Amino acid sequence: MTVRVRFAPSPTGPLHIGGVRTALFNYLFARKNNGAFLLRIEDTDKNRFVPGAEEYIIESLKWCGIKIDEGQSVGGDFGPYKQSERKAIYKKYANKLIESGNAYYAFDTPEAIENLRKQAENDGQNFIYNFESRVNLNNSISLSSEEVNHKINSGEPYVIRFKTPQNQIVKMSDIIRGTVEVNTNTLDDKVLYKSDGLPTYHLANIVDDHLMGITHVIRGEEWLPSLPLHYMLYDALEWGNEKPIFAHLPLLLKPTGKGKLSKRDGEKMGFPVFPLEWHGQNGEVAKGYREDGYFADAFINMLALLGWNPGTEQEILSINDMIELFDIEKVQKGGARFDPDKAKWFNQKYLQSKPTADLLAPFQQILKSKSINTNNEKDAQIIELVKERASFIYELWDHAYFFYETPTEYDPKVVKKRWKNNVPDIIKQIGEKLSDEKIWEANHLKEIVSEIINANEAGFGAVMNALRLSIVGGGMGPDLFQIIEIIGQKESLERINNAIDTLTN
Ligand code: GLU
Repeated sequence: MTVRVRFAPSPTGPLHIGGVRTALFNYLFARKNNGAFLLRIEDTDKNRFVPGAEEYIIESLKWCGIKIDEGQSVGGDFGPYKQSERKAIYKKYANKLIESGNAYYAFDTPEAIENLRKQAENDGQNFIYNFESRVNLNNSISLSSEEVNHKINSGEPYVIRFKTPQNQIVKMSDIIRGTVEVNTNTLDDKVLYKSDGLPTYHLANIVDDHLMGITHVIRGEEWLPSLPLHYMLYDALEWGNEKPIFAHLPLLLKPTGKGKLSKRDGEKMGFPVFPLEWHGQNGEVAKGYREDGYFADAFINMLALLGWNPGTEQEILSINDMIELFDIEKVQKGGARFDPDKAKWFNQKYLQSKPTADLLAPFQQILKSKSINTNNEKDAQIIELVKERASFIYELWDHAYFFYETPTEYDPKVVKKRWKNNVPDIIKQIGEKLSDEKIWEANHLKEIVSEIINANEAGFGAVMNALRLSIVGGGMGPDLFQIIEIIGQKESLERINNAIDTLTN
């Protein structure tokens, strides 16, 4: 059996990171088993359709490096892969279910159903369209076949509902959750086919999974309540022996661990819940991991460990590591808490392990935006010195700006603490000595400066901190002599003299 899995999003808006994780787990499972990963767009709910969402989904997968083997945007032998282009297929199966007595026509108007709902609510009850209520409602179970034919022929709108069998146990199995049992009396008669001539999710999903030869359905936990219906549909369509194997992934939980991770959590706490920035029709903009400066490989590494781990302490996993180690049976049942700090931590680890050459172009982009001339050799040296301090490329600048900009201000706290006693005088001596220097190299310069400090019988730390203050304007930065070497003799002397002029008055 060749493994075939699908990611089947509905284009109802930007793809939540939970959806990206679902796609990722499907992809890892497919790769691990030399199978195929399909993309199917489930767009049968016209009311929830959002323009641009499909393109967003495809671009997100691409950014994540999740390659679609077959399906929407790449084609294949089982297309079309967009449900709105498969309308004719579903009607046939809806009719088949009617003929076999597993489904029925229902003519109740939305208003009539709404009234029943309200009435029940007033009585402190819940209205359910099921084996008990269906006999008193407006459908092909309660009406005569003449009445039904008349209604259909006169064009009265109808839906097709599943006729849930009474008092049966549906026994289901799920790789992650084991065996699950449900009594059918707790279920309602779901709509399979709507009055607009389109199937609902349930019918289209089952038909397509079957026709597309899907072997494993890996999807979010929120679909677990639909599983009994899906089992019954497979049986009713006489595909009972060819059901796919199911795995329902754990929810992504809020950083507090309580409740499902939502868009609002991200807005409140300032982290993205979408892979890419999203621009909604009404002008709303939602943050994306890509635009916030995350590397795609760090992002999917973080996602992969939400609900799964390789069984070792190893956290940094390349996509190939993940494929090799992934085991759907090891996915946890309980919800996976999302931690925005951990997401940053992953990005930091990836940044630090990236070759400097890979960081050069995006870093120089920042320089260009500030009208700073670039110099490959110098910029690479600087990145090398500061990259261990940054979590994002844009933070490289925060740790490196003083290589490019002469200080115009000095941190008053550092001034107060360091620019005192005979230290300014020693800095002056250092400046004078360095102005004659012919060899501008960090270790050599360090020796010269040390000699001056010793000759003055001063503390090394005290003088070095003041020298740093004059070079970078504060107490921060990597090795000072490396900075001095990189910015060069002329610039270093200028900075020392500026500091003496500015701070000594
Ligand atoms: N269209 C459903 C969704 O949006 C697919 C669920 C499934 O994978 O069966 O998540």
